[in-house]
Amino acid sequence: MTGKLAGKVAIITGASAGIGEATAITLAAEGAKVVLAARRSDRLDALVQRISNAGGTALSIVTDITDETQVQNLVQKTNAEFGRIDILINNAGIALVGTIDGANTSDWQRMVNLNLLGLLYVTHAVLPIMKAQGVGHIVNISSVAGRTARVGVGVYNATKWGVNGFSESLRQEVCKQNIRVTIVEPGLVNTEINDHITDPVAKQRSEERRKSITPLESEDVAAAIVYAVTQPQHVNVNEILIRPTQQEW
Ligand code: NDP
Repeated sequence: MTGKLAGKVAIITGASAGIGEATAITLAAEGAKVVLAARRSDRLDALVQRISNAGGTALSIVTDITDETQVQNLVQKTNAEFGRIDILINNAGIALVGTIDGANTSDWQRMVNLNLLGLLYVTHAVLPIMKAQGVGHIVNISSVAGRTARVGVGVYNATKWGVNGFSESLRQEVCKQNIRVTIVEPGLVNTEINDHITDPVAKQRSEERRKSITPLESEDVAAAIVYAVTQPQHVNVNEILIRPTQQEW
């Protein structure tokens, strides 16, 4: 397939829904071979079919990225199939928002394990391959919540703040090896992310907030990601903050 990303290989975590799904479709349309990682195999297989029908190349590898062994399998299988990894989109994440007092701490563990540790595991696993290639691009999906703390969002804030700090440290560590690192920080996006909130009060508040404005669509965020990964090699777009026009916070 032709396109700005022809010949490139991209892993997208959380590719079975929302921003990850839209990003996979968009990168494949630009010619990248996309590797789709998430837990729901039926959704991944349907997406492989959709991308293939459009003339693209996609491979699904069922992966729970909180499990380091599964992450190593994802990276090894990708390398075995396509021989390289040019782009990693660290997208999988959950936002189990709610106040700190009275929280179910298993929500905190799930967020830290996925939003932070999962992202670290995948990054750690691809780095030796990108270094050996002498080129690579890691895009970490953070959030407005990685820059602006709000009541009722504390632990999600902490994970996304962590993603931002980690990303800048990583950028400094690998920039001389021609590995680029980009943070993308969306505001409200119309996805299934709210469905997973366990605190009913926080869930209702979150749904009301979403209904009060016209949110971003996943494709809007995918377009921002494509912008970052299609720049010339000497250009590293470090950070993209993208809010719905009507989002005040
Ligand atoms: P969705 O809930 O729509 O999709 C989340 C994706 O993550 C799914 O594909 C899910 O797949 C995957 N996922 C969940 N757990 C795991 C796991 N253990 N291992 C592998 N994959 C997993 O969310 P969004 O698209 O909205 O969110 C994507 C990213 O964008 C997240 O990092 C989120 O924090 C961030 N973001 C979202 C915003 C929004 O308003 N929607 C705003 C700002 C940032 P499966 O269940 O099949 O494993």
